[in-house]
Amino acid sequence: MRYISTRGQAPALNFEDVLLAGLASDGGLYVPENLPRFTQEEIASWAGLPYHELAFRVMRPFVTGSIPDADFKKILEETYGVFSHNAVAPLRQLNGNEWVLELFHGPTLAFKDFALQLLGRLLDYVLEKRGERVVIVGATSGDTGSAAIEGCKHCENVDIFILHPHNRVSEVQRRQMTTIFGENIHNIAIEGNFDDCQEMVKASFADQSFLKGTRLVAVNSINWARIMAQIVYYFHAALQLGGPARSVSFSVPTGNFGDIFAGYLARNMGLPINQLIVATNRNDILHRFMSGNQYVKETLHATLSPSMDIMVSSNFERLLFDLHGRNGAAIAGLMDTFKQGGGFSVEQERWTEARKLFDSLAVDDTQTCETIAEVFEQTGELLDPHTAIGVKAARECRRSLDIPMVILGTAHPVKFPEAVEKAGVGKALELPAHLSDLFERDERCTVLPNDLKAVQAFVSQHGNRGKPL
Ligand SMILES: *Cc1c(COP(=O)(O)O)cnc(C)c1O
Repeated sequence: MRYISTRGQAPALNFEDVLLAGLASDGGLYVPENLPRFTQEEIASWAGLPYHELAFRVMRPFVTGSIPDADFKKILEETYGVFSHNAVAPLRQLNGNEWVLELFHGPTLAFKDFALQLLGRLLDYVLEKRGERVVIVGATSGDTGSAAIEGCKHCENVDIFILHPHNRVSEVQRRQMTTIFGENIHNIAIEGNFDDCQEMVKASFADQSFLKGTRLVAVNSINWARIMAQIVYYFHAALQLGGPARSVSFSVPTGNFGDIFAGYLARNMGLPINQLIVATNRNDILHRFMSGNQYVKETLHATLSPSMDIMVSSNFERLLFDLHGRNGAAIAGLMDTFKQGGGFSVEQERWTEARKLFDSLAVDDTQTCETIAEVFEQTGELLDPHTAIGVKAARECRRSLDIPMVILGTAHPVKFPEAVEKAGVGKALELPAHLSDLFERDERCTVLPNDLKAVQAFVSQHGNRGKPL
């Protein structure tokens, strides 16, 4: 399988290189040159497979040529073996034909574990083979950091540096990062906000001289391997609800458009999906595009669903690429306009094409809390605020009651106690067994000033299992 850039200028890469790449050299994102397509019979034959075996069948075409089948199978069995629920991604019924796909039974209680547990293992496999080491520098406002650290903690060939804004992540989220020890794990609290952290990561990718030749790898959802891993659970859910004979709809709590883009790919690979709902919080750039064909940046609002607090959705470029007939020059042009502060619209027929599949809704904090309370009352199920946004959007935007609606349950409610308290459901939140002593554990973290040079100096001092690069 070869991968090409959405801006058309960077060289095509194989899976191994795309795994180790960040942005393409032309500023674009990598996508498969040709998407695999499965027949209905083939998909139907996967019903009842354990999650890791389904994962093997769905993802195999993407890694062909880079990872032999036997090795890939072993990696997947290990990856999904760490999830605490036997079904890995169980479906729970909320209402008639309305389901939550619980994606929070991984080590850090959010869906990001599905991709990052795999990413860490794939990196180590590929690096071992090549005899290389890499450094990861990532920024987090919460969920990505802990999932990336959990995913990479056993990697022999990876040092991981995660930047979070000092005193601006929740205590559960901070402790999920700072209580994991290892000589290759480095938590840095920056005296600044999340944007400052993200800017430092971007600047580090732009000029990597401080790494003295060591390669820098991305763990945010611009990394293709993360998207790839998320395709699997769309197949998993549909197969349990009568697919592919029957089509299924999904409502996806959305920030950077990574998770829902995986659903779009699942559909293009042959899975009958009727409707994909983009559920956003008040940071609604995607809702404004889907409802009014305007892609325009606005100011950032802090919400009760912080993992979706974004101004720009990085993976949206991957959808735009397809909507424009995979014309890289057209995407480069749009992104240039956008970068210069202008928003854009796409031609009417391209927008109409997108709207055949996608609907959207923006849900504010009040509605989020109302939905948590409503669902708790109706079913006794306690939703996290991100999932609640998905439920609200599913109920507002649903096209057909005959088609099963699956809401992606992206996080466990214990990660976001503030929203649950505000919803007033009065149910005590308990950490799952493997995290029950989280508040007693020792923490390890370095506080650094909001200064790129200081951060880069720290990375080069500690980037080789705690020793200088
Ligand atoms: C990251 C995250 C999202 C948003 O996913 P995207 O792929 O960025 O759209 C939603 N909910 C939770 C809990 C998350 O951690």
